[in-house]
Amino acid sequence: MTAKTPMQKRQAHKSLLKRLPKVDRLLEMAATHAGLQNAPRTLQVRCIRTVLDELRRRILAAESPADAADFSPEKILAAARELVAAAMQPNLMRCVNATGVVVHTNLGRSLLAPAALKNMHHIGAHYSNLEFDLDEGRRGSRYRAVEDLLCEISGAQAAMAVNNNAAAVLLCLETLARGRNVIVSRGELVEIGGSFRIPDVMTKSGANLKEVGTTNRTHLKDYRGAIDDDTGLLLKVHASNYRIVGFTAEVSLAQLVELGRSRDLPVMQDLGSGSFIDFSAYGLAAEPTVQASVQTGADVITFSGDKLLGGPQAGIIVGRRDILARIQQNPLTRALRIDKLTLAALESTLRLYRDPRRAREQLPTLRMITSSYESIAARARELATRLENLGAHLHIKLLDRPSRAGGGALPTLDLPSCCVALGIAGRSAQHINHALRHSNPPVIGRLEEDFFLMDMRTVQNDEIDLIVTAVGGLLQEVER
Ligand SMILES: *Cc1c(COP(=O)(O)O)cnc(C)c1O
Repeated sequence: MTAKTPMQKRQAHKSLLKRLPKVDRLLEMAATHAGLQNAPRTLQVRCIRTVLDELRRRILAAESPADAADFSPEKILAAARELVAAAMQPNLMRCVNATGVVVHTNLGRSLLAPAALKNMHHIGAHYSNLEFDLDEGRRGSRYRAVEDLLCEISGAQAAMAVNNNAAAVLLCLETLARGRNVIVSRGELVEIGGSFRIPDVMTKSGANLKEVGTTNRTHLKDYRGAIDDDTGLLLKVHASNYRIVGFTAEVSLAQLVELGRSRDLPVMQDLGSGSFIDFSAYGLAAEPTVQASVQTGADVITFSGDKLLGGPQAGIIVGRRDILARIQQNPLTRALRIDKLTLAALESTLRLYRDPRRAREQLPTLRMITSSYESIAARARELATRLENLGAHLHIKLLDRPSRAGGGALPTLDLPSCCVALGIAGRSAQHINHALRHSNPPVIGRLEEDFFLMDMRTVQNDEIDLIVTAVGGLLQEVER
């Protein structure tokens, strides 16, 4: 073929573009097309347009436009049908968490207890006394649903819940220290995943960060020396997702409380995950409990609802009555308020904590973190056996690998766990990883050398079937 001049090429493009079927014609055909006829018309239009746009783009980009000439209406409709099918799938979908990270922020953190789910359904389906005082017959407080429970469990004078812990921290700083200095140790200026950074939140709250000490060592005299007339608050942040080890010194909450009292300054603690359960009772490292912080005398404490607590996304604030009253009057509170479904789930979750044994049985997060190695290994053996029965292409082995609590809690703690490692003859681990991530439901694991690893700590009993089906589907593809 002779080389074309730019002019000839443009002509060729033009005549090809002209031959593209018209949208109206395609829509007419879609009305009787099995995969398209039941889809909403706006979706049909959008998907057909997307396919046509793509064809146009390909025609214009092709060196030799004839290469892009393959566009029968049937082919276009078939492509549109795939787009329609994808668009009809929900965007937010259930996943199997085989990562072993219990509080996995990207996979939705905590699974809710049955009682919490039931209550969300109940309160969501009916009107409720969300902000209605049944005794007085007039407007009431949204926080009533959880305040007495939070006070009972934590020992605090007052309590409330907002959208999340980031909101709780912002709200407390804004209320207590706007335009004033907040003293924090340099060793506690944390960044949590998803770009929550203490210094940035501080800026947004209008408070001024006053860093004291060094990364690894901060002393009481550092705080003392930094206090002046502009000081509004002493802040302690739980170093949730890291540990500073070696030559270190940290000022305890008790020391900070004593200093705060002597200078008439409130002391706030951001506990991050926060827990009502002493994990050392289960042979795990101690994560500070909310009760301990209250008892030590922190004036205001914030923590998450969906980390170690095992409830819905929420930010919980407990502390002195006068401080909580000020926070509730802050207009910002209205913008950060907790939703009624969340409140319903949170109340039911908190009720479980009245009996710590029940909490541990009923709250999936606690159950998974405290699962014994033996029970996890038994589940791993069950999955391994079921997978082995699928066929000769599979390589299955069990590997002992630690899992993690996640959610920035217990960061240095390895939870002994058992993984099922999967390899398929002729397929790379990357391929398995990709295929299982696109199965329905997606199975999320991790790679180690030539294997796809599934940590069974975070796989629920009823998900073994789902994994077997997903791997079965993948094998059919391989055998085809
Ligand atoms: C996780 C965390 C937060 C943010 O909590 P969210 O509930 O995710 O908003 C704030 N501070 C600390 C120390 C944390 O660990």
